[in-house]
Formats: sequence, structure tokens, C-alpha cells
Amino acid sequence: MTIKIEKKIKGYEVVKPEDKAAPAVQATTEQPKEAPMAEVIQMHESLERPEALIGSTFKIKSPLFEHALYVTINDIVLNAGTPYEQRRPFEIFINSKNMDHFQWIVALTRILSAVFRKGGDVTFIVEELKAVFDPRGGYFKAGGVYMPSIVAEIGAVIEQHMKNIGLIHDPEMSDAQRALIAEKRAAYENAAQKKTELSPTDADTNDSAGFPPGATLCAKCNTKALVLMDGCQTCLNCGYSKCG
Ligand SMILES: [Zn+2]
Repeated sequence: MTIKIEKKIKGYEVVKPEDKAAPAVQATTEQPKEAPMAEVIQMHESLERPEALIGSTFKIKSPLFEHALYVTINDIVLNAGTPYEQRRPFEIFINSKNMDHFQWIVALTRILSAVFRKGGDVTFIVEELKAVFDPRGGYFKAGGVYMPSIVAEIGAVIEQHMKNIGLIHDPEMSDAQRALIAEKRAAYENAAQKKTELSPTDADTNDSAGFPPGATLCAKCNTKALVLMDGCQTCLNCGYSKCG
């Protein structure tokens, strides 16, 4: 069987045996058409890139890199205007003035974009990237968050983006939990203030998003917010406590 292709080929799919069987059945039975069910489009490889995509650009400034990295993630909106509307990442680009690392950055972004377009659950790449450690030891971001590598920070950016578009849901902290952390923090700051009044030379300021100076790294949220309270290590960021 030959079919002359008169239009530009924009994408293709291999016909599976079940696909072939389906139209034949339909033709013979000629059922009265049911109310047309809108077809829910899922992410898949041969989905054509629309002319315009919406996206966000994040800036990464790392002490390991001389220049900032700009990470752009563009999304495709599937089933727009239907109850199945969904925003999914479609492609990622990373730009920088620093060209030293460009070959692996280009390779990484191409593979990430390919994973995005494959469809299915793509959120796993966040954990994969965040688990990459730099042998030089990583660095602290403003706010006291520890980044084990620049790749991990790219993972954190993708995670933030996926949260923004509703692909990853943050386990919501309850109001009670929030209140408890605020209470602990106030108590700690009170105690610390009394100390600094006694020894005014010790009044150094802290740049890490207001967590007390001397706070150590919390293993749960990777933030320098762990303080000793009533003989127990307590995180003033996520509420983690060694004593439960
Ligand atoms: Zn924490």
C-alpha cells in the first residue's frame, strides 16, 4: 500500500498491531457516534513543539563559578481550557558568560529536555541531580542552605519550577507546626539576647536569613538553622528535632 505524502511531515509514530485493528472494527459496526469525548493529551515524544512556550528563568550564583548561570525552563500547556489542563516542562537551557564548563552543561540540558519530552513522571530527576556531590565540597547559599554541587543547585531550581507549576507538591507545614517553630525560635533568640547583653563583644550579625549565628547544618532541610535548645538539637527552619 502506498500513500503519497502531500503535507510536510511534522512527526511520526509507528503503527502498532492494535492500532490497525481498531479502525477496521469501527468501520464495520458503524456505531452511532457517542458524545465526543475530548481526547486527553499526555506528554509524549512526538508532541510537536508549539511556536511559543511559557517559561521561567532562574539565576544561580555559586562561589564555584565565576559568572552566574541562568537556567530557563519552558513549559508546554496540555489540554488548555479543559479540566485536564496541565503545565509540563518541555525544555531547559542554561546560559552563562563562563564557557569553561559549557560542553557538559549543553549535554546535561539536552538530556534533561529529552527526559521532559519523554512523558511520564519526570520529577525523579530532581532527586537524581540533588544527590550529586562536588568533590571540592559544595557551598552555602544565602539563607544558609547547603548545596553539595552546582548540579545539585540546578536540581533545586528544577524542583522549585516544578513546585511553581504544580507538578511537585510540597508537604504542607501545618499552622500548628509553624507556630511551634516560631515559638522555639523566639525562645532561643530571647536566651541568646540575654547572653549578648552579658558579653557585648559577641554581637556579630548573621547573614543566613536571620538564623542565629553558630547555627549548624540541619540534615533534614540542608539549612544552617540547627541550634541547641534545652539540650536538644532543634532546627529553626523545618522544625526537625533530635528528640522527636
Ligand atoms: Zn531543618
